[in-house]
Amino acid sequence: MLTSLKGKVAVVTGGSKGIGAAISKELAKNGVKVVVNYNSNKESAEEIVKQIEAEGGAAVAIGADVSYSEQAKRLIEETKEAFGQLDILVNNAGITRDRTFKKLGEEDWRKVIDVNLNSVYNTTSAALTYLLESEGGRVINISSIIGQAGGFGQTNYAAAKAGLLGFTKSLALELARTGVTVNSICPGFIETEMVMAMPENVREQVISKIPARRLGHSEEIARGVLYLCQDGAYITGQELSINGGLYM
Ligand code: NAD
Repeated sequence: MLTSLKGKVAVVTGGSKGIGAAISKELAKNGVKVVVNYNSNKESAEEIVKQIEAEGGAAVAIGADVSYSEQAKRLIEETKEAFGQLDILVNNAGITRDRTFKKLGEEDWRKVIDVNLNSVYNTTSAALTYLLESEGGRVINISSIIGQAGGFGQTNYAAAKAGLLGFTKSLALELARTGVTVNSICPGFIETEMVMAMPENVREQVISKIPARRLGHSEEIARGVLYLCQDGAYITGQELSINGGLYM
Protein backbone atom coordinates (compact mmCIF):
# COMPACT_ATOMS: atom_id res chain seq x y z
CA MET A 1 0.00 0.00 0.00
CA LEU A 2 1.56 3.30 -1.07
CA THR A 3 1.48 6.07 1.52
CA SER A 4 0.70 9.43 -0.01
CA LEU A 5 3.44 11.85 0.91
CA LYS A 6 1.45 14.93 0.02
CA GLY A 7 1.60 17.42 2.89
CA LYS A 8 4.15 15.43 4.91
CA VAL A 9 7.13 17.30 6.33
CA ALA A 10 10.75 16.18 6.16
CA VAL A 11 14.02 17.39 7.60
CA VAL A 12 17.08 16.46 5.55
CA THR A 13 20.30 17.15 7.45
CA GLY A 14 23.15 18.31 5.24
CA GLY A 15 20.55 18.79 2.51
CA SER A 16 22.27 21.52 0.54
CA LYS A 17 24.49 19.42 -1.70
CA GLY A 18 25.38 15.92 -2.87
CA ILE A 19 23.13 13.11 -1.73
CA GLY A 20 21.21 15.35 0.70
CA ALA A 21 20.26 17.79 -2.06
CA ALA A 22 19.04 14.94 -4.27
CA ILE A 23 16.95 13.56 -1.36
CA SER A 24 15.47 17.02 -0.67
CA LYS A 25 14.46 17.43 -4.32
CA GLU A 26 13.07 13.90 -4.71
CA LEU A 27 10.89 14.22 -1.59
CA ALA A 28 9.68 17.68 -2.64
CA LYS A 29 8.79 16.37 -6.11
CA ASN A 30 6.51 13.90 -4.35
CA GLY A 31 4.60 16.47 -2.31
CA VAL A 32 6.75 16.59 0.85
CA LYS A 33 7.49 19.98 2.43
CA VAL A 34 11.23 19.91 2.99
CA VAL A 35 13.55 21.56 5.48
CA VAL A 36 16.92 21.74 3.77
CA ASN A 37 19.37 21.84 6.66
CA TYR A 38 22.85 23.23 6.09
CA ASN A 39 25.86 23.73 8.31
CA SER A 40 27.79 26.59 6.70
CA ASN A 41 26.72 26.80 3.07
CA LYS A 42 23.59 28.97 3.23
CA GLU A 43 23.80 29.90 -0.45
CA SER A 44 23.68 26.33 -1.75
CA ALA A 45 20.82 25.51 0.63
CA GLU A 46 18.87 28.54 -0.64
CA GLU A 47 19.61 27.49 -4.21
CA ILE A 48 18.09 24.04 -3.55
CA VAL A 49 15.03 25.72 -1.99
CA LYS A 50 14.70 27.91 -5.11
CA GLN A 51 14.91 24.87 -7.40
CA ILE A 52 12.23 23.08 -5.35
CA GLU A 53 9.94 26.12 -5.41
CA ALA A 54 10.46 26.55 -9.15
CA GLU A 55 9.02 23.06 -9.60
CA GLY A 56 6.00 23.92 -7.44
CA GLY A 57 7.27 22.38 -4.20
CA ALA A 58 7.63 23.83 -0.70
CA ALA A 59 10.92 24.09 1.19
CA VAL A 60 12.86 26.24 3.63
CA ALA A 61 16.57 26.34 4.43
CA ILE A 62 17.53 26.17 8.11
CA GLY A 63 21.12 26.45 9.31
CA ALA A 64 22.30 24.22 12.18
CA ASP A 65 25.40 22.25 12.98
CA VAL A 66 23.68 19.03 13.99
CA SER A 67 26.72 17.76 15.88
CA TYR A 68 25.67 20.19 18.64
CA SER A 69 22.54 19.12 20.49
CA GLU A 70 21.26 22.66 21.07
CA GLN A 71 21.47 23.45 17.36
CA ALA A 72 19.80 20.17 16.43
CA LYS A 73 16.95 20.95 18.85
CA ARG A 74 16.54 24.39 17.34
CA LEU A 75 16.44 22.86 13.84
CA ILE A 76 13.57 20.57 14.85
CA GLU A 77 11.68 23.35 16.67
CA GLU A 78 12.06 25.72 13.70
CA THR A 79 10.75 22.94 11.43
CA LYS A 80 7.68 22.62 13.60
CA GLU A 81 7.20 26.41 13.52
CA ALA A 82 7.61 26.55 9.74
CA PHE A 83 5.40 23.62 8.75
CA GLY A 84 3.47 22.59 11.90
CA GLN A 85 4.57 18.94 11.98
CA LEU A 86 7.45 16.54 11.28
CA ASP A 87 6.98 13.15 9.63
CA ILE A 88 10.30 12.22 8.03
CA LEU A 89 13.79 12.66 9.45
CA VAL A 90 16.65 11.94 7.06
CA ASN A 91 19.96 11.90 8.92
CA ASN A 92 22.29 12.54 6.00
CA ALA A 93 24.93 14.98 7.31
CA GLY A 94 28.37 13.43 7.23
CA ILE A 95 32.06 14.10 6.87
CA THR A 96 35.24 12.09 6.40
CA ARG A 97 38.65 12.70 7.91
CA ASP A 98 40.52 9.72 6.54
CA ARG A 99 43.86 8.77 8.13
CA THR A 100 45.45 5.40 8.83
CA PHE A 101 44.97 4.59 12.50
CA LYS A 102 48.63 5.23 13.32
CA LYS A 103 48.21 8.84 12.20
CA LEU A 104 44.65 9.37 13.44
CA GLY A 105 44.61 12.09 16.08
CA GLU A 106 41.93 12.33 18.75
CA GLU A 107 40.45 15.44 17.14
CA ASP A 108 39.82 13.58 13.83
CA TRP A 109 38.33 10.65 15.73
CA ARG A 110 35.97 12.81 17.80
CA LYS A 111 34.90 15.15 14.98
CA VAL A 112 33.86 12.28 12.70
CA ILE A 113 31.97 10.52 15.51
CA ASP A 114 30.29 13.81 16.47
CA VAL A 115 29.13 14.72 12.96
CA ASN A 116 28.24 11.24 11.67
CA LEU A 117 26.90 9.52 14.80
CA ASN A 118 26.24 11.86 17.73
CA SER A 119 24.30 14.17 15.39
CA VAL A 120 21.83 11.34 14.82
CA TYR A 121 21.18 11.06 18.55
CA ASN A 122 20.76 14.86 18.64
CA THR A 123 18.22 15.16 15.82
CA THR A 124 16.31 11.95 16.50
CA SER A 125 15.84 12.61 20.21
CA ALA A 126 14.66 16.15 19.45
CA ALA A 127 12.25 14.88 16.76
CA LEU A 128 10.83 11.83 18.51
CA THR A 129 7.72 13.42 20.02
CA TYR A 130 6.72 14.85 16.64
CA LEU A 131 7.47 11.61 14.76
CA LEU A 132 5.22 9.74 17.20
CA GLU A 133 2.42 12.22 16.46
CA SER A 134 2.76 11.53 12.74
CA GLU A 135 0.83 8.85 10.94
CA GLY A 136 3.67 6.78 9.54
CA GLY A 137 6.76 8.56 10.83
CA ARG A 138 10.08 7.68 9.16
CA VAL A 139 13.68 7.89 10.33
CA ILE A 140 16.21 7.20 7.58
CA ASN A 141 19.89 7.13 8.47
CA ILE A 142 22.41 7.48 5.68
CA SER A 143 25.11 5.04 6.71
CA SER A 144 27.68 3.67 4.26
CA ILE A 145 29.19 0.56 2.72
CA ILE A 146 32.17 1.47 4.91
CA GLY A 147 30.05 0.84 8.01
CA GLN A 148 29.30 -2.65 6.67
CA ALA A 149 32.68 -3.66 5.23
CA GLY A 150 35.23 -1.31 6.86
CA GLY A 151 37.57 0.92 4.90
CA PHE A 152 41.34 1.44 4.84
CA GLY A 153 42.18 4.67 6.65
CA GLN A 154 38.61 4.99 7.86
CA THR A 155 38.43 3.61 11.42
CA ASN A 156 36.68 6.77 12.60
CA TYR A 157 34.16 6.91 9.72
CA ALA A 158 33.55 3.12 9.76
CA ALA A 159 32.93 3.17 13.53
CA ALA A 160 30.41 6.00 13.16
CA LYS A 161 28.61 4.45 10.19
CA ALA A 162 28.51 0.97 11.80
CA GLY A 163 27.20 2.66 14.94
CA LEU A 164 24.30 3.98 12.88
CA LEU A 165 23.38 0.44 11.84
CA GLY A 166 23.11 -0.70 15.47
CA PHE A 167 21.22 2.45 16.40
CA THR A 168 18.80 1.84 13.53
CA LYS A 169 17.96 -1.73 14.53
CA SER A 170 17.55 -0.93 18.23
CA LEU A 171 15.35 2.10 17.70
CA ALA A 172 13.35 0.18 15.08
CA LEU A 173 12.59 -2.48 17.70
CA GLU A 174 11.52 0.12 20.23
CA LEU A 175 9.26 2.00 17.79
CA ALA A 176 7.85 -0.82 15.64
CA ARG A 177 4.47 -0.83 17.41
CA THR A 178 4.03 2.89 16.96
CA GLY A 179 4.17 2.82 13.15
CA VAL A 180 7.39 4.86 13.07
CA THR A 181 9.92 2.95 10.96
CA VAL A 182 13.68 3.32 11.28
CA ASN A 183 15.99 2.20 8.48
CA SER A 184 19.50 2.76 7.16
CA ILE A 185 20.63 3.25 3.62
CA CYS A 186 24.16 2.11 2.85
CA PRO A 187 25.40 3.81 -0.30
CA GLY A 188 28.44 2.41 -2.07
CA PHE A 189 30.57 4.93 -3.95
CA ILE A 190 28.39 7.78 -5.18
CA GLU A 191 29.47 10.53 -7.53
CA THR A 192 29.54 13.47 -5.08
CA GLU A 193 32.22 15.89 -3.89
CA MET A 194 33.11 13.41 -1.12
CA VAL A 195 34.11 10.77 -3.68
CA MET A 196 35.36 13.15 -6.39
CA ALA A 197 37.85 14.46 -3.77
CA MET A 198 39.67 11.09 -3.95
CA PRO A 199 42.81 11.09 -6.11
CA GLU A 200 41.79 10.05 -9.64
CA ASN A 201 43.91 6.88 -9.65
CA VAL A 202 42.32 5.71 -6.38
CA ARG A 203 38.85 6.46 -7.78
CA GLU A 204 39.63 4.48 -10.96
CA GLN A 205 40.77 1.54 -8.80
CA VAL A 206 37.54 1.71 -6.82
CA ILE A 207 35.41 1.74 -9.99
CA SER A 208 37.27 -1.28 -11.39
CA LYS A 209 36.16 -3.27 -8.32
CA ILE A 210 32.47 -2.30 -8.53
CA PRO A 211 30.54 -5.12 -10.26
CA ALA A 212 28.36 -2.50 -12.04
CA ARG A 213 31.60 -0.73 -13.17
CA ARG A 214 30.41 2.76 -12.36
CA LEU A 215 29.86 5.13 -9.46
CA GLY A 216 26.29 5.53 -8.22
CA HIS A 217 24.26 8.70 -8.66
CA SER A 218 22.85 10.74 -5.76
CA GLU A 219 19.40 10.37 -7.33
CA GLU A 220 19.66 6.60 -6.93
CA ILE A 221 20.06 7.06 -3.18
CA ALA A 222 17.22 9.60 -3.15
CA ARG A 223 14.87 7.09 -4.78
CA GLY A 224 15.77 4.60 -2.04
CA VAL A 225 14.68 7.18 0.53
CA LEU A 226 11.47 7.80 -1.40
CA TYR A 227 10.73 4.06 -1.49
CA LEU A 228 11.15 3.73 2.29
CA CYS A 229 8.91 6.75 2.87
CA GLN A 230 6.23 5.84 0.37
CA ASP A 231 6.10 2.07 0.43
CA GLY A 232 7.94 1.19 3.62
CA ALA A 233 5.26 0.81 6.30
CA TYR A 234 6.30 -2.84 6.87
CA ILE A 235 10.05 -2.27 6.44
CA THR A 236 11.89 -1.44 9.64
CA GLY A 237 15.33 -2.02 11.12
CA GLN A 238 16.80 -2.73 7.68
CA GLU A 239 19.93 -1.80 5.76
CA LEU A 240 19.17 -0.89 2.17
CA SER A 241 22.45 -1.31 0.26
CA ILE A 242 22.67 0.74 -2.93
CA ASN A 243 26.14 -0.03 -4.16
CA GLY A 244 26.27 -1.57 -7.65
CA GLY A 245 26.96 -4.98 -6.12
CA LEU A 246 30.18 -3.94 -4.37
CA TYR A 247 29.18 -5.48 -1.01
CA MET A 248 26.63 -8.26 -0.74
P1 NAD B 1 28.75 15.92 0.82
O1 NAD B 1 30.01 16.30 1.48
O2 NAD B 1 28.49 16.35 -0.59
O3 NAD B 1 27.51 16.31 1.71
C1 NAD B 1 27.51 16.20 3.11
C2 NAD B 1 26.58 17.25 3.63
O4 NAD B 1 26.58 17.21 5.07
C3 NAD B 1 27.01 18.66 3.24
O5 NAD B 1 25.89 19.39 2.82
C4 NAD B 1 27.58 19.22 4.52
O6 NAD B 1 27.48 20.61 4.62
C5 NAD B 1 26.70 18.53 5.54
N1 NAD B 1 27.27 18.58 6.88
C6 NAD B 1 28.51 18.23 7.25
N2 NAD B 1 28.67 18.44 8.55
C7 NAD B 1 27.49 18.92 9.02
C8 NAD B 1 27.03 19.32 10.29
N3 NAD B 1 27.82 19.27 11.36
N4 NAD B 1 25.76 19.78 10.41
C9 NAD B 1 24.94 19.84 9.34
N5 NAD B 1 25.34 19.47 8.11
C10 NAD B 1 26.59 19.01 7.95
O7 NAD B 1 28.70 14.33 0.92
P2 NAD B 1 27.71 13.26 0.28
O8 NAD B 1 28.56 12.35 -0.51
O9 NAD B 1 26.51 13.89 -0.32
O10 NAD B 1 27.31 12.47 1.62
C11 NAD B 1 26.03 12.49 2.20
C12 NAD B 1 25.95 11.34 3.18
O11 NAD B 1 26.11 10.10 2.49
C13 NAD B 1 27.03 11.37 4.25
O12 NAD B 1 26.52 10.94 5.48
C14 NAD B 1 28.05 10.37 3.73
O13 NAD B 1 28.82 9.84 4.77
C15 NAD B 1 27.14 9.34 3.09
N6 NAD B 1 27.78 8.51 2.09
C16 NAD B 1 28.30 9.05 0.96
C17 NAD B 1 28.87 8.21 0.03
C18 NAD B 1 29.45 8.72 -1.25
O14 NAD B 1 29.99 7.89 -2.00
N7 NAD B 1 29.36 9.98 -1.58
C19 NAD B 1 28.93 6.84 0.25
C20 NAD B 1 28.40 6.34 1.43
C21 NAD B 1 27.81 7.19 2.33
